[in-house]
Amino acid sequence: ASAASLALTLSACGQSGEGGSKDEGGDTKGATIGIAMPTKSSERWIADGNNVKKDLESKGYKTRLVYGEDDPDQQVSQIENLITQGVKALIVAAIDNKSMNNVLQQAKDADIPVISYDRLILGTENVDYYASFDNEKVGELQANYIVEKLGLKDGSKKGPFNIELFAGSNDDNNTRYFFGGAMKVLQPYIDKKQLVVRSGQTKLTQVTTLRWDGGTAQKRMDDILTSAYKSERVDAVLSPYDGISIGILSALKSDDYGSKAKPLPVVTGQDAEVASVKSIIAAQQSMTVYKDTRELAKVASGMVDALLNDKKPEVNDTKTYDNGAKVVPAFLLEPVAVDKTNYQKEVVDSGYIKASDLK
Ligand code: BGC
Repeated sequence: ASAASLALTLSACGQSGEGGSKDEGGDTKGATIGIAMPTKSSERWIADGNNVKKDLESKGYKTRLVYGEDDPDQQVSQIENLITQGVKALIVAAIDNKSMNNVLQQAKDADIPVISYDRLILGTENVDYYASFDNEKVGELQANYIVEKLGLKDGSKKGPFNIELFAGSNDDNNTRYFFGGAMKVLQPYIDKKQLVVRSGQTKLTQVTTLRWDGGTAQKRMDDILTSAYKSERVDAVLSPYDGISIGILSALKSDDYGSKAKPLPVVTGQDAEVASVKSIIAAQQSMTVYKDTRELAKVASGMVDALLNDKKPEVNDTKTYDNGAKVVPAFLLEPVAVDKTNYQKEVVDSGYIKASDLK
């Protein structure tokens, strides 16, 4: 048996294959890979963790999967522990993208390659590769959906329409890409006054939502409705993430939106979470951006496998993701806009969500 299959057998028996000899290809099968995910409060990260684990195990690796519960310090100490435990590579979806300098220096010193998962880690050279989606495109899809649904895009309506803007957590690098992509589409309509932000809150710093928290977004939407919408009505809300969309919809519903006389605005989202797909089916949330995290997991585990076998991981972007210390070579997947017209095909038929979960 080759070292790889031996390691596989050992690990299948629950024994360590670590420290064994490498095969001719420099293969380190049986090595343990550390996976650090940000939170269990959202389905996508639970699925991400499980998928990465499964993919690595199918390649013969062992895994240690940890969740930081949205606490950056906790996540850093979890990663320190993984390094101490002797993991041979790290896959990290950071909570605070700027908090990783020291711990990733420790990884570097221990010769452990690091894959930045979904969210780019900033300010350190010690990030080897980045696996993510085209994050700017996510924002473009959300904003395009809004201007299409309002009839602005094809010119069938001129407006003005009222819109409010929400962005993600300010410590997540994706936030500025999502928001930037959306504003590229929305800004020309705002400039022409076809879209009006009655709250006046249009700068990224005014619209972020710490840790992507739905309750925080609900409170902000409540405040905006009270202060800026006395007799006016909101026609669209740019929301970056399904959990935030659910919060926004709660605020709208407690202000009597959702009736014939006062229809709900167009509300975007991201991640195709079960609650939001149900909400889309029930004609509440308008759309979500589906990102097949099963594919992302494959990309990230493939990168680890390549690196540990002295091969170059496949990338398709070498210029976009400058983390302040270097441009991190990336593999970016395509996000897909999903609403009631295509959720069946995109998220159910593809097996991402079970039909029975949507009942
Ligand atoms: C991810 C999104 C997710 C958000 C909140 C972002 O970094 O790219 O898919 O909605 O975090 O969890």
